Amino acid sequence: MTNKGKNWSWTEEQKINFKETLKKTIHHLKGKIGLDANAYKGELSGYDAKHSWNIRNWGIATKCEECGDTKCKKYDWANISGEYKRKRSGWKQLCRSCHTKFDKGNVCKNGHKLTPDNVYLYLGTQRHCRECNRIRMSKYRTNLLKGDNEIS
Ligand SMILES: [Zn+2]
Ligand SMILES: [Zn+2]
Repeated sequence: MTNKGKNWSWTEEQKINFKETLKKTIHHLKGKIGLDANAYKGELSGYDAKHSWNIRNWGIATKCEECGDTKCKKYDWANISGEYKRKRSGWKQLCRSCHTKFDKGNVCKNGHKLTPDNVYLYLGTQRHCRECNRIRMSKYRTNLLKGDNEIS
């Protein structure tokens, strides 16, 4: 936050209000995450199921839509939207090397791997990193416990 390093002087009342708001926010967020996790489970129903679903509907991947290669032995269906929607536009056929490249680039801004297990959808569209969220939450909690009046 931009206010970092600035000294805050709050009245006792403001501090209490702030803590209450924060608690509510955390509660709200927890609810969100729980809901999303369930929705996501229903949509996905397992990694293998998801992949056989691709093959059933669109056939075995036979080319790389990234580099145009058609000579490799094996191609994968890769989820490029991160949403695991059953929409063809959210998926790409990739060769091994493009798939590896894609996976490497598929990290959050803090370098956590955005595997299906580490991603949740916020408001149904935005991809969020669970690991970052965990860190953010524990920061909030620590600040609450410390009773700090500075938001970092
Ligand atoms: Zn390729
Ligand atoms: Zn992250």
